[in-house]
Amino acid sequence: MGKAFVLGLTGGIGSGKTEALRAFRRLGARTLCLDEIAHRVLARGGAAYAPVRRAFGPEVIGRDGEIDRRALGRAVFASRRLRRRLEGLTHPAILREMRRRVRAHRRGLLVVDAPLLFEAGLEAEFDLTAVVTAGRARRLGRLRRRDGLPVSELRRRMTAQMPLARKARLADVAIGNDGTLGELRRKVRDTHKALELIYGG
Ligand code: ATP
Repeated sequence: MGKAFVLGLTGGIGSGKTEALRAFRRLGARTLCLDEIAHRVLARGGAAYAPVRRAFGPEVIGRDGEIDRRALGRAVFASRRLRRRLEGLTHPAILREMRRRVRAHRRGLLVVDAPLLFEAGLEAEFDLTAVVTAGRARRLGRLRRRDGLPVSELRRRMTAQMPLARKARLADVAIGNDGTLGELRRKVRDTHKALELIYGG
């Protein structure tokens, strides 16, 4: 299994991070998803629940007492200042939990799905970074099928993100996902093999 090696995986919305993560898992890698950690941190009893509730008020709390993530998304969407504020309340807790899990990982490959890897400046947390890329039209088509959202809304979300081309320049490895799922899995297998050579898998 070799020594511990941590790969940070990112991409844009709909570029195929989740599929790539699944492919790494099938090859025996351990995986960690920062979105999942974010959910837990915001859930009642999580480290960010009370501070977010205090900062954003009852309009972001659902009937069940949990934070309504959609309402929270709407509350911060139009304001950079509020987005920063929310990040200030959630990111430290997410990072703490991520570091705890990374420390607990002793041997072999751990792949961390980190959608905001570069935006949040997390490069130094990982031994290597990889980005899953795909053309805009392809991502739009896949997201329409997956989420059923109007193209205008998907475009708006894409435009709000750091451009994928920029992430591709910043990452150590780029995994192109403009082909079939089979092709993506083959590329992940090649990357996995190359990494094994590095960490002695
Ligand atoms: P998000 O950040 O929005 O969650 P993501 O980067 O995790 O997106 P995925 O969920 O992996 O993206 O992919 C988006 C959709 O496109 C999914 O329904 C997925 O099954 C599909 N998909 C991904 N790659 C391919 C491919 N090569 N061929 C066909 N469908 C694909």
